[in-house]
Amino acid sequence: MSVFHDEIEIEDFEYDEDTDTYYFPCPCGDKFAITKEDLENGEEVAACPSCSLLVRVIYDKEAFVCGELVEAPSSSAENKLELVRSRKL
Ligand SMILES: [Zn+2]
Repeated sequence: MSVFHDEIEIEDFEYDEDTDTYYFPCPCGDKFAITKEDLENGEEVAACPSCSLLVRVIYDKEAFVCGELVEAPSSSAENKLELVRSRKL
């Protein structure tokens, strides 16, 4: 049975660019992990690989999903700026 340890905002996660994964420290000493791909797919549960704890990730799904689907070349610089802005709100 899965137990939610907490609800954590994505801003509080630590992002690792090499693995495209967000990490948050788990009480057991390991880290909860959720990949950017998971977030784009609407996944909102980050699991700790060392224990059974889970956290719910609080984030703006639409910002993530749109941000990645609209991967248009160069011309969309302004749109991307808009996205960055809305993401921070
Ligand atoms: Zn753990």
